[in-house]
Amino acid sequence: MSLFDSHFTATLRERETAGTRRTLRPVVRQGGMIVRDGRRMLDVSSNDYLGLADHPLLRERAADWALRFGTGARASRLVSGTLDLHRQVETKMAAFKGCEDAILFASGWQTNASVMPALCALSVARTGAPMLVFSDRLNHASLHHGCAAAGVRQIRFRHNDLSHLENLLDRETEKPGLRMIVTESVFSMDGDRADIPALRALADRAGAFLYIDEAHATGVLGPKGRGLSCGMADLTMGTCSKALGGMGAYVAGSQALCDYLANHASGFIYSTALPPAVLGAIDAALDVVPGLDAERVRLLGQAERLRTMLHGAGLATADSTTQIVPVLIGESERAMTVAARLEDAGFLTVAIRPPTVPAGTARLRLALHAGLDDAAIDRLGQAVIALTRDVA
Ligand SMILES: *Cc1c(COP(=O)(O)O)cnc(C)c1O
Repeated sequence: MSLFDSHFTATLRERETAGTRRTLRPVVRQGGMIVRDGRRMLDVSSNDYLGLADHPLLRERAADWALRFGTGARASRLVSGTLDLHRQVETKMAAFKGCEDAILFASGWQTNASVMPALCALSVARTGAPMLVFSDRLNHASLHHGCAAAGVRQIRFRHNDLSHLENLLDRETEKPGLRMIVTESVFSMDGDRADIPALRALADRAGAFLYIDEAHATGVLGPKGRGLSCGMADLTMGTCSKALGGMGAYVAGSQALCDYLANHASGFIYSTALPPAVLGAIDAALDVVPGLDAERVRLLGQAERLRTMLHGAGLATADSTTQIVPVLIGESERAMTVAARLEDAGFLTVAIRPPTVPAGTARLRLALHAGLDDAAIDRLGQAVIALTRDVA
């Protein structure tokens, strides 16, 4: 019993009534399938796009480094938690991203939530005025959290609408303070891409710093899976928890940027350094990922195959051009019902509802991975088409 239990339960009951209460539902993985509540399903809900979470080299190096170096880093990075291993992996990450340096964080969420305030503080320190943060409306919750933590009001542009962004930049030209444009290279709920060269050109014109979140592009898109922003962003961040099959996150950019963040990003300073096993998995992923061109081509080809099927049946997939394929359903309840019926049919998808996405755009999010063959894609497509017809 805790003092607030009656408040907790009352609030949870409100969620229950609104149909938005969430619960934790354990899964097990068996032979490429996911099993939940005794049901065996094809997994199109998770972000291990290249299947690296199961890769023998990642498992081996994670285990080896844990056996050789221990389970914990024992301290934060600036105290005594930095091992040669950290610098080795950071240097490898910087080379992968084509940047001067990189620094590792415990998670992508923690990166955005603490790097954003560190950058905003720079504007106040150097100009006496708050940072002007121009952000895509569909940016990830962690980026919004970072801005809220920094106490800045974001100037939001319509999703991927660069003429709107240009107008907003023009409108603010007289304002003091540094400027920053923040967006994702691949959007997690729509599977579409930002036009990074055009953003770079706008950023140059406005004297704005370009911050790109490559969570869903790292490992999957760009030459050798390097992402879409190499050589074009002032700061790239990405997670090691999606296509890289592990855990943790990176920021890549100039030496000065990385040194500044190591001194000013609270999520880096006040959190224990990543442990050897996690570093081993990242290190091995960076060895493996550049060689996976065939898997990347297959994955994007399967996504295209699926979209073509769905479009043929009159279903909309937003502007997806990546391994993330949303199927727009409309009403939340209908999306939930279709997702539940898909589980019965052996496919684990996720129904994404407002407020995560705008009202009236509830959807199924199909996240494909390189292990899916033509037959699996066809069965998935047919099931989605049949069930969206069935569920009025
Ligand atoms: C998943 C995600 C994150 C958070 O990364 P974690 O490593 O899971 O904490 C940040 N940004 C975007 C766009 C994401 O999709």
